[in-house]
Amino acid sequence: MQHDQLHYSMPPYPQQRQPEPGLAGKMSPRPDHGETSYQGSGRLAGSKALITGGDSGIGRAVAIAFAREGADVVINYLPDEQQDADEVIALIRDAGQKGYGIAGDLRDEAFCQLLIEEAHRCLGGLDILINNAGKQQFVESILDLSTEQFDATFKTNVYAMFWLSKYALNVMEPGASIITTASVQAYAPSAGLLDYAQTKACNVAFTKALAKQLGPKGIRVNAVAPGPYWTPLQVCGGQPQESLPHFGADSPLGRAGQPAEIAPLYVTLASKACSYTSGQVWCSDGGTGTL
Ligand code: NAD
Ligand code: MG
Repeated sequence: MQHDQLHYSMPPYPQQRQPEPGLAGKMSPRPDHGETSYQGSGRLAGSKALITGGDSGIGRAVAIAFAREGADVVINYLPDEQQDADEVIALIRDAGQKGYGIAGDLRDEAFCQLLIEEAHRCLGGLDILINNAGKQQFVESILDLSTEQFDATFKTNVYAMFWLSKYALNVMEPGASIITTASVQAYAPSAGLLDYAQTKACNVAFTKALAKQLGPKGIRVNAVAPGPYWTPLQVCGGQPQESLPHFGADSPLGRAGQPAEIAPLYVTLASKACSYTSGQVWCSDGGTGTL
């Protein structure tokens, strides 16, 4: 079924399940990352950006938007996601910008340091860091939540952005910008996302504290807090299987958001036009008004 509003698919969505981390190319319906719709207007001309999780979902939409706004872009992703990543790198280059992919696991501090150094070398600078990679696995009871999962969720969602932001400061100059992807889960946690919701609350506190540290250096730090968005994360165990067909249905707009619908928030926050905005969290949740 189609909704008049932008012709996006309405629930129910088809049942589907992929192993983590999943591929956007195997989702049904395929998410809209703005491939055919996003039009830039030079808002990030000359910028150099690193986007983690840039292969799919929200990160892919941000990569496409940034390139069409005139930024050169490095995306990071896991080796299993090369197929999705190749599509994004081609789209960045189609926009006339430099586009590179660097695969690797962000749970490893040494890799995070290497990623910053390599991104800086490929781009000849680094102005924008998008801390967007994330892990989300639904587990109904704390009794079934393993230490391994708890640790992996924190390493991916919390430690990685600490390491990346720290090493990025070695190469960033005044005017640079860091944006993290938090979640409405930081403010309205679901019972079955006990580990994930905590990490997203960490992301909000990290953003606000780091903004205070880095303001005197002329570096801004902001967060985007998505509500329900149609991405691989959700069909790889982020939601219980039985909830998937109605994902986002209880939002006032009655459906899940598509990644293309949130990329403009990252463009705006990264742009020099927002030079006095730092320490903020910008929510996009289909009208629930979580924050
Ligand atoms: P996604 O699956 O498309 O993106 C997540 C990406 O994280 C993956 O593509 C993968 O490349 C990366 N990743 C995961 N573990 C990694 C690791 N160990 N090392 C390197 N990369 C790793 O899904 P998405 O929904 O676009 O997720 C992007 C961000 O949005 C995440 O931080 C997520 O928590 C957040 N978010 C999503 C929703 C939603 O409804 N989709 C809602 C709120 C917040
Ligand atoms: Mg992916």
